[in-house]
Amino acid sequence: MALTIKCPTCRDQTTWENNPHRPFCSKRCQMVDLGGWIEERYKIPGDDLELIFDDEDDDKKIQ
Ligand SMILES: [Zn+2]
Repeated sequence: MALTIKCPTCRDQTTWENNPHRPFCSKRCQMVDLGGWIEERYKIPGDDLELIFDDEDDDKKIQ
């Protein structure tokens, strides 16, 4: 029997069991509730691009 709950952030239905982000449906909703996602969102674009380029360079060298 699965316990169904409503995500407090987006109000989607989600489950309590096997849900690492409960009572939220996802990590995103968890971050929204904490307010931390705004900071993350502004930080990620630059960092992400650098990481992606670094990974691609490494892959090419290895191959
Ligand atoms: Zn949600």
